[in-house]
Amino acid sequence: MTPFDTIVIVDWTGGGDTGARERKDAIWASVQRGDAAEPAVYLRNRSVAEAWLSQLFADEIAEGRRCLAGFDFPFAYPAGFAQAVTGTHDPLVLWDWIADAFDDLVDGEDRFDLAARLNRLFPGVGPFWFNGRQQGDIADLPRKGSDRTMDQVGLPERRMVEAQARGTFTCWQMGGAGSVGSQAMTGMASLARLRRWHPEAIAVWPFEALDRPVALVEVWPSLLADEVKAAMAGTGETIKDRAQVEGLAGAVSRAQMSGALQTLLAAVPEGVPRREEGWILGVGAELLLHAAARASDRSGPGPTHLANDCFALPRGVVWTPVDVALSRLRERLRPVTGTERVPVAAALGRVLSTDHRAMRANPPAANAAVDGYGFAHSSAGERSTELPLVAGRAAAGAPIGGAVPAGSAVRILTGALLPSGVDTVVLEEDCTVADRKVAFGGPVKPGANTRKAGEDVKEGAVALAAGRMLTPADLALMTALGMAEAEVFRPLRVGVLSTGDELVAPEQGTQQGAAWTYDANRPMLLALAARWGHVPVDLGLVGDDRTALRAALGRAAATSDVILTSGGASAGDEDHVSALLREAGTMEIWRIAMKPGRPLALGSWQGVPVFGLPGNPVAAFVCALIFARPALRRLAGAAWHVPTGYLVPAAFVKRKRAGRREFLRARIDDQGRAEVFPSEGSGRISGLNWADGLVELGDEAREIAPGDPVTYFPFGSFGF
Ligand code: AMP
Ligand code: MG
Repeated sequence: MTPFDTIVIVDWTGGGDTGARERKDAIWASVQRGDAAEPAVYLRNRSVAEAWLSQLFADEIAEGRRCLAGFDFPFAYPAGFAQAVTGTHDPLVLWDWIADAFDDLVDGEDRFDLAARLNRLFPGVGPFWFNGRQQGDIADLPRKGSDRTMDQVGLPERRMVEAQARGTFTCWQMGGAGSVGSQAMTGMASLARLRRWHPEAIAVWPFEALDRPVALVEVWPSLLADEVKAAMAGTGETIKDRAQVEGLAGAVSRAQMSGALQTLLAAVPEGVPRREEGWILGVGAELLLHAAARASDRSGPGPTHLANDCFALPRGVVWTPVDVALSRLRERLRPVTGTERVPVAAALGRVLSTDHRAMRANPPAANAAVDGYGFAHSSAGERSTELPLVAGRAAAGAPIGGAVPAGSAVRILTGALLPSGVDTVVLEEDCTVADRKVAFGGPVKPGANTRKAGEDVKEGAVALAAGRMLTPADLALMTALGMAEAEVFRPLRVGVLSTGDELVAPEQGTQQGAAWTYDANRPMLLALAARWGHVPVDLGLVGDDRTALRAALGRAAATSDVILTSGGASAGDEDHVSALLREAGTMEIWRIAMKPGRPLALGSWQGVPVFGLPGNPVAAFVCALIFARPALRRLAGAAWHVPTGYLVPAAFVKRKRAGRREFLRARIDDQGRAEVFPSEGSGRISGLNWADGLVELGDEAREIAPGDPVTYFPFGSFGF
């Protein structure tokens, strides 16, 4: 068998594929090539994972490579099931059946309805069980496994491999901790689609001979539970799914290098209906798999400073989904500036470098919330009350000395400390005062119109955490809590450099020939940097000349903490930014699966991170908002920031392909719907001025009709 060049292991999810922004139970995939251990990829949901896998397979096929892709869900049901549903024992026919059945679900239905529908094909209750809905019964889907008997159904409870591998769950159980029923059902549908998208290129083990570029293989990461646990303890890794896919991908890759993979693939015992039930890679040959896993010499977690290769992507990954790019930036970037102390009043927009705790409580002591009369609650009657007034008046900053005796009241103003003996205040508008007596109706609640000590913030509590970018309200809070100074990161100096022979600076006069392009990106990016609270550093304009560019980057590295370039970031003849960074050995081109603005060149020059943005102003703008903004904030010491989007009805029609995310220039019309700029052409700068925000269309395919919900990010969500 021709060896596999690429091993990818995927940890699937069966949960609802809502397209939500970030999910706990998302999908992790680890790509391994040879002995290179590469960081796992985070895939937000199944549509994203499908698009990512499809692209990976397409690249492998196009480049003449072979790829083994392992998935952690059953590829088949126990013997007899496929036959009963489709009329054939072939599980791949069942995969197609399930994919079509998902397409046929109506709104509001999901995999549980599909399980119920399958149950109806069988005598008795049917094989599937577990109700994953918050409320309500699902007809024909029992809540418990003991609510049905497999004797009645006429199918085995387990596949033969599940009987052999201790601890596996059955694929009839559609939910609950550790279950695989939902993963199996959704996973088979996804794999069916991948097979349709790459006809003749995918073979499925152990149903088919592995003589095609891509092999799909069922795996079960728990086989390596001990090794994964040890690795997590050793590296401080906290995400188990990620540790599992990395561990297993490494083990399979090393098994291939040692020749053991052949044995693992051949380890399906005699007598197993392999073409009907399938098998789990490694079951029956566990020792070999353990040996491969332990042969690992993986080092610990990545460095905490910015390494030269901090932007490295797994090899073989050609298109990087937006979320993958963002989570990579989030993981790899660290604050790069020192810290200093500044007066709170001068700290607007600065980033706290440590947690800031309350120097005293707010309020420091109980006080009056209104202007009125204070007394002990026990002195007031149920109905009307009349109390003599003591001499004097308690005001904010001017407390009265001495106590207010029981049965008396005192004049008190907002903010005044409650004198001893006073726990309740009545609003002055609710009182009548005559003859040095105050009268009011009842009943009055104990503690009415007072503020308790520390009810807002307790002394010593963390009022603002490290990473906070200070707002005007934060300056108020810090001051109220007795802080005069803030410990902050030094401002991030953001250098902005434009590149391109065709560019002229506005200073060079505005009467240039049509062959020239005015350098629009520089004022735009400098202004964005300033708006985001950084120090903009104008690095000017350089032509497409490597020597000049090298000199400019050298100057930039001396004056900036991070460099934003625009233009020349692709791989064309005149793309000198990427060429130079590559020469320096620190360059990565991320081709982002995003419109507008695909190439993003990331690297470092003399230790200073460089973001090579696309030249096209619209693309440069959108890339700056989506990638540069959170990255710069992180470098400046701020916590990672996810902009807030809002679901609004669309005012437009659009059909979008799967596989990349799109950002449309948009604004809210007078009916509260998102309308989009009539042209998507990325040369149309004026669309940015027309717009008040962006509509984000996810990585998956979509057809949008007027009224459909779309996610709208007002420009305010991006900090300006
Ligand atoms: P490039 O990425 O260098 O191939 O540039 C892509 C397109 O963006 C070309 O049409 C460039 O002329 C244009 N462009 C590059 N830099 C700028 C800039 N600073 N201002 C306006 N247009 C630019
Ligand atoms: Mg250019």
